[in-house]
Amino acid sequence: MLAWIFVGVLFVLCGVLAVLQYRWIGEVSVAARDRMRASLQAGLVRVSRDFQSEINAACRAVAPDNPKPDPAAFASQVAERYAAWKSSGQQAPLFRAVGIVTRDADRLALRIPGADGRFSPQPWPDEWRLTEQFLEGTMLREGRGRRGEGPPPEESTIFEVPVFNMPGPGPGPGPGPGFGDRGGMRRGAAWLIFDLDLKYVTETVLPELLQRHLGAAASQEYHFEITPHDDPAEPLYSTDADPRSRVAANADARVGLLDISPDMLRPRGRGGRGFGPEGMRLAGGGRWELYVRHRAGSLEAVVGRTRQRNLAVTGGVLLLIIASAAALIRFSRRAQRLAELQMNFVAGVSHELRTPLTVINTAAYNLQSNVTRNPEQVARYGALIRQESGRLKEMVEQVLSFAGSQAGSMTRELQPLCVEDIIRSSVDASKAVLDGGHFVVEQDVPPALPLIAGDARALQHALQNLLTNAVKYGKGEQNWIGIHAAVNPDGSQPRIEIRVADRGPGIPPDEQRHIFDPFYRGKRAVQDQIHGTGLGLTLVKEIVAAHRGTIAVRSQPGKGTEFVLRLPVAPKEFQDEFANSVSRG
Ligand code: ADP
Repeated sequence: MLAWIFVGVLFVLCGVLAVLQYRWIGEVSVAARDRMRASLQAGLVRVSRDFQSEINAACRAVAPDNPKPDPAAFASQVAERYAAWKSSGQQAPLFRAVGIVTRDADRLALRIPGADGRFSPQPWPDEWRLTEQFLEGTMLREGRGRRGEGPPPEESTIFEVPVFNMPGPGPGPGPGPGFGDRGGMRRGAAWLIFDLDLKYVTETVLPELLQRHLGAAASQEYHFEITPHDDPAEPLYSTDADPRSRVAANADARVGLLDISPDMLRPRGRGGRGFGPEGMRLAGGGRWELYVRHRAGSLEAVVGRTRQRNLAVTGGVLLLIIASAAALIRFSRRAQRLAELQMNFVAGVSHELRTPLTVINTAAYNLQSNVTRNPEQVARYGALIRQESGRLKEMVEQVLSFAGSQAGSMTRELQPLCVEDIIRSSVDASKAVLDGGHFVVEQDVPPALPLIAGDARALQHALQNLLTNAVKYGKGEQNWIGIHAAVNPDGSQPRIEIRVADRGPGIPPDEQRHIFDPFYRGKRAVQDQIHGTGLGLTLVKEIVAAHRGTIAVRSQPGKGTEFVLRLPVAPKEFQDEFANSVSRG
């Protein structure tokens, strides 16, 4: 009872633990996902800031601090700085091209570096068309030019910034005043155009920054995608080669890149609009969007996987605990049953020993004290002593055999054996018992069955046990025993099947699974005080197992019992050897 209460409590505790663990793992997973997302987002913001300061620094390196009002002089100032920056700057290939736009009467003059590196007037390249339109609106007409719907993807690398502190020659024709501190967007200033080298940005600058802020394994862990801010459907760059799985469509985090503002070239410390403490705009908006998604699909998926792993491990541990408890209970119950059986065995064996000993003792006393001199009577006493001492011997032998089987010595060396011979000698050895019970034995053993490899003495012992049991427990309307042998080709290896059947009262179904247990005796055997130790079938099973065979019982209460032994056929060389010796001998 206590054991069952313990088991119940254990199961309930395991259940409670499982529920708590499940919820806890769930909470931990959500927290882990939020933490990962937050740190990814923070990393991206740092990437965006650093990228912005690289761009700002590069633009400022090119723009002269004190620009000259004359366009040609200004161009040579820019050319000088551009060349210096290119030769010294770490991010030298950052720009594919740089252009200077100044006002030339009512036209815009564009200067880009020629083959000699000098900025000289050139026609507008096609891909700068939008920039040209915008600057025309801004520099030539009243008001500010419009960039329209935003540049198409192929132009989103191009941006233009006004030059500050450019002194104007005063009112009248020619370039107007530049952007002073309070100048605002006024027409007449010089502008610089920068065309970013997308390949260099995506293959060198950004990977470096991503590694710095998201960790060394960032490129193995995440997919990155850059799209124009206004057109997320058209990626400028993506590490995910599969066009169907767009990173932007299912991103774990995103950040704006390339925040172009008119303040970009304003010297540091002048407190331009939106500048952060380091002199750059806070990351947020931008011409581009950088999207990041974990390579596993999403952070959700990564956390989900970890969660499943944790759940599996926890579930496994709990199952292990339950299985161990179940096994412990099972083993202890078996040990308990075995102890009970052994107690019954001791009680039974004491009784079994006392009865023949009493008979032998009385018979011997009578013979010794000459109570009878009648030779017939003397012979009867002699027979009685033999019979009872035979029973004693059998019992002692069974106990010794059981002890031997536990020590692992069930069979001796295996020899090629003829099944027919074994059956015949077993029936002969049981003749006295069979005749005593008035049993008819019907044999159906075909000649020339394949040989089996076995220990003749052990197998005979096993068959005798089955025959003795049939006599002891198989008495019915017909005292009949059937012995049948045949080749059973089922399975990979052919086997010889030997069946020993009786037409007795049978074995109740609930007893059938116990009859091979050591010391087990059926209810009827105990009630009717049928002699036995409960070891017979255990020994039969051990013997059959030592021959790599099997034993099964089929029994229908009221109809009879049949034991089925299946023994493997001997290997071919055994069969050949036997055939040779028969032909020789
Ligand atoms: P024992 O005969 O000493 O009791 P066994 O191991 O030979 O021990 O048999 C175990 C039990 O199996 C017997 O007590 C009996 O209840 C049952 N049994 C064995 N053979 C038969 C049979 N042929 N018919 C009915 N019951 C049987």
